[in-house]
Amino acid sequence: KKYTKEQLIELVQKESVEFIHLQFTDIMGVMKNISITCEQLEKALDNEIMFDGSSIDGFVRIDESDMYLRPDLDTFRIFPWSGEYKEARLICDVYNSDGTPFKGCPRNALKRTVNEAKEMGYTMNVGPECEFFLFHTDEKGEPSLNTHDNAGYFDLAPADLGGNARKDMIITLKKMGFNIEASHHENAPGQHEIDFEYADAVTTADNIMTFKMVVRIVAQRHGLHATFMPKPKNNMAGSGMHLNISLAHLDGKNAFYDENDKMQFTDVAYSFLGGLLTHAKAFTAITNPTINSYKRLVAGYEAPVMIAWAEGNRSPLIRIPSKKGASTRIELRSPDPSANPYLALAVTLKSGIDGIKNNIRPTNGVKNNLYDMEEQDLRDQGIDRLPTNLKEALIEFSKDEFMKKALGNHLYERTIDAALYEWNKYSKFVTEWEIDRYLMKF
Ligand code: ADP
Ligand code: MG
Ligand code: MG
Ligand code: MG
Ligand code: MG
Repeated sequence: KKYTKEQLIELVQKESVEFIHLQFTDIMGVMKNISITCEQLEKALDNEIMFDGSSIDGFVRIDESDMYLRPDLDTFRIFPWSGEYKEARLICDVYNSDGTPFKGCPRNALKRTVNEAKEMGYTMNVGPECEFFLFHTDEKGEPSLNTHDNAGYFDLAPADLGGNARKDMIITLKKMGFNIEASHHENAPGQHEIDFEYADAVTTADNIMTFKMVVRIVAQRHGLHATFMPKPKNNMAGSGMHLNISLAHLDGKNAFYDENDKMQFTDVAYSFLGGLLTHAKAFTAITNPTINSYKRLVAGYEAPVMIAWAEGNRSPLIRIPSKKGASTRIELRSPDPSANPYLALAVTLKSGIDGIKNNIRPTNGVKNNLYDMEEQDLRDQGIDRLPTNLKEALIEFSKDEFMKKALGNHLYERTIDAALYEWNKYSKFVTEWEIDRYLMKF
């Protein structure tokens, strides 16, 4: 929906919206809200709402703390679950007091990449597949790791309490303007997926943030806890956030589709794929930013471990789905839903663009299931691994100068600081696994 300032003020009056949440996302991918009353809307739309950036994790130093919010008018949505008072939201970009875009704003960073592609004549389209778990809460309302259902992939079990919550999520999302394409129970007990229609990169990143918010709120109303933690349970699949990516020409035509090619791919598609493969090791720190992310990136659960691509096969990093024409796309399978969607799209799309600019050709096409391949065969074919933990990912991230270009210095350095902090905390902590393994043995 496109609104002018005047239309929006009128709409808020007509609908009797009392509170408006000005939303933005911090570096860690956490949504922040500054609530205003309807009377303050005009001031907000004139970009005059200020907040103290130093109060937000990883944003700014104390001496540069005055930040301004610039609402994106197209993102106005009324919350369908509002109670006594009607509430709405606007997603914002963060600006400095001198009127320049704030370098630490993830949404601004994604917009830079999007504009670069636009100058080359392309719109970037992304369709995410967000997986999540629904767990029961205990008497005190604290989340547990218990699920009630025993349903497997695609099962329609009557005992599936989560199924009711999922229906409610879908209806709520639809009311907020989402086009839901599919939803199903995933592999693990309590695990679900809801797929919504692809859109341009900024809209999709906004949608992912909204999606997570809606899923959490609706789950809570059903007495459940929704988590986007990548791997909450041992010995079962983790939650991924596959990114389906394509470029369109400015007239809307898919720029990846060539009916005459043997894979029905254009040169642009091949080199975009090449760029993704080239920078995959480095961008993993962004697409898989938590300690827990790497517990998901192990063999056997349809999560990728090897930097390779295939048509159809779901074990490598990248799959080329068989549907072609308008649906021609590249499916990147490593990202998980703990990633900041703005940054994840900024680094992956920028990697693809680099592939186009430098005409990088994709190598490492594979036919076999990679989980079954021997170590020696992988090495012979020159197939490399994704980082196996956050520290390794961080080293790869720091080695690739291109990541600094993709994110800008501010976000680049804050990302390293945040990941190092996380790693240092974790590496000092003695886990249950170690106790079980070593206490008796030594
Ligand atoms: P999978 O087969 O991996 O389970 P899904 O059907 O769950 O895939 O999800 C496919 C996603 O790809 C959807 O979000 C869909 O809108 C998106 N998609 C379809 N065509 C394109 C395209 N041309 N560019 C980007 N995304 C697309
Ligand atoms: Mg899917
Ligand atoms: Mg599907
Ligand atoms: Mg899935
Ligand atoms: Mg998929």
